[in-house]
Amino acid sequence: MGKPTGFLEYQRELPADRAPLQRVQDWGEFHEHFPVLKLQDQAARCMDCGVPFCHTGTLINGMASGCPVNNLIPEWNDLIYRGLWHEALERLHKTNNFPEFTGRVCPAPCEGSCVLGMHDPSVTIKNIECAIIDTGFEQGWVVPEPPAKRTGKTVAVVGSGPSGLACAAQLNRAGHLVTVYERADRIGGLLMYGIPNMKLDKRVVQRRVDVLAQEGVRFVTNTTVGLDIPATTLCADFDAVVLCCGATKPRDLPIEGRNLKGIHFAMEFLHNNTKSFLDSGHADSAYLSAANKHVVVIGGGDTGTDCVGTSMRHQCQSLVQFEILPRPPDTRQADNPWPEWPRIFRTDYGQEEATARFGTDPRTFLIQTEKFVGDAQGRVKELHTVNIAWERDARGRFTPQRIPGTERVWPADLVLLALGFLGPEDALLEHMQVERDERSNAKAAYGHYATNLPGVFTAGDMRRGQSLVVWAIHEGRGAARACDRYLMGTTHLP
Ligand SMILES: Cc1cc2nc3c(=O)[nH]c(=O)nc-3n(C[C@H](O)[C@H](O)[C@H](O)COP(=O)(O)OP(=O)(O)OC[C@H]3O[C@@H](n4cnc5c(N)ncnc54)[C@H](O)[C@@H]3O)c2cc1C
Ligand code: SF4
Repeated sequence: MGKPTGFLEYQRELPADRAPLQRVQDWGEFHEHFPVLKLQDQAARCMDCGVPFCHTGTLINGMASGCPVNNLIPEWNDLIYRGLWHEALERLHKTNNFPEFTGRVCPAPCEGSCVLGMHDPSVTIKNIECAIIDTGFEQGWVVPEPPAKRTGKTVAVVGSGPSGLACAAQLNRAGHLVTVYERADRIGGLLMYGIPNMKLDKRVVQRRVDVLAQEGVRFVTNTTVGLDIPATTLCADFDAVVLCCGATKPRDLPIEGRNLKGIHFAMEFLHNNTKSFLDSGHADSAYLSAANKHVVVIGGGDTGTDCVGTSMRHQCQSLVQFEILPRPPDTRQADNPWPEWPRIFRTDYGQEEATARFGTDPRTFLIQTEKFVGDAQGRVKELHTVNIAWERDARGRFTPQRIPGTERVWPADLVLLALGFLGPEDALLEHMQVERDERSNAKAAYGHYATNLPGVFTAGDMRRGQSLVVWAIHEGRGAARACDRYLMGTTHLP
């Protein structure tokens, strides 16, 4: 431990984000960086606990507790305190292929299980992680490291999200020739076309893809496996195949008026916005614009927040966000003790921006949409809601109950459905006859990643359902290990 009294001397501090009303004027990242000395103080707060829960990565009550990629957090905190940045970077890369992604977008379950968090605000782990890797790139320490020797084995990875990229990076490191197939025109999966630029700059994604390409990973874009290339060809041409296609089937809201114009799935909105931004700085107008519109975002998760932040940058006229669940409490409750992920009320960047512009938090909790109403041209013009209460039904399950007298009508020109995802798309899995589990994900045991087809593996959201970038990286690494063992009889991959 760098400084035994660090946690007594320094308070938790994070760099202030760019001011909400300023940052909605552009698409640049909203995070700022701390100077080195401040980061050293923050790293000094780490107590190098005998049992460091922050890097356990276990599931408690279905939520991650500790870092899912088992980042060696106390070790790199100590190195940062001592000013050994290059060593800290090496330690970070041992467990995480892409700390520049997690350092920006991870919800940081590590911080929820930090021992300091039992009585004080936790160590600023995620911010330090981001600073280590950003410094690494700035200093030119992140260089392509192609394998010394090739094995002669070939692997196809389908899907280029964080799980596919982590899997490809690891298999390439083991000496296999890896080809990543991606149906979109750019590599990165939801890192590229889901999470918006202000949260994760696409140059940061491309920078890592370029390193992987220089290390020998081959990328093939605009190619849908199962459509442009039959999966049988892939299985015949490669020694192994890893499916990392995500869980992108959106949950719909099949109520009256759903077919009106102006009601869209969140991903249609987010994908086209980023593509148009990257292609032409929005000059091609090939995106759904929220400009001057009354926007309603239905769904309170990460996807909903990204719709809010994007609409704010389009200069929408008004914005509300609906959540069917209750508002979480401000502090941990007795049934949610440390080191569990704290289920508490948070205000993310999008809500902060909407509050700064419109004066109130855009979120309404415990509300259900009952119907959409359109104008004479078939365009949505309003949305009808009712407040609900969660009550147990005859079988003891919580179900939403309408509260009569709370009906309300909201103006709406653009409705964005961010209600979560139902699992992986069917086409490829059906085409290949890959078995599914009871939640419709590709079936493969955790830790083994092998499907029912010999030599075919699966990882990430496609196997576990819509989750987090950090879990996708964890699974991509695990699938690479399983695949390497299948190809070589043994594996040395971490
Ligand atoms: C809007 C949004 C915001 C999010 N924000 C966060 C966040 O802030 N923090 C966080 O940790 N997580 C976030 N997540 C979740 C996170 O992005 C995902 O859990 C993660 O990207 C899953 O990685 P993956 O590699 O399994 O799949 P994906 O990232 O979904 O990548 C799958 C890729 O496979 C491709 N593909 C599919 N089928 C085929 C085919 N047949 N042929 C070729 N290619 C194919 C797809 O085009 C896609 O590029 C967010 C998710 C969404 C939707
Ligand atoms: S990847 Fe996420 S959980 Fe792991 S150290 Fe980074 S912020 Fe924490």
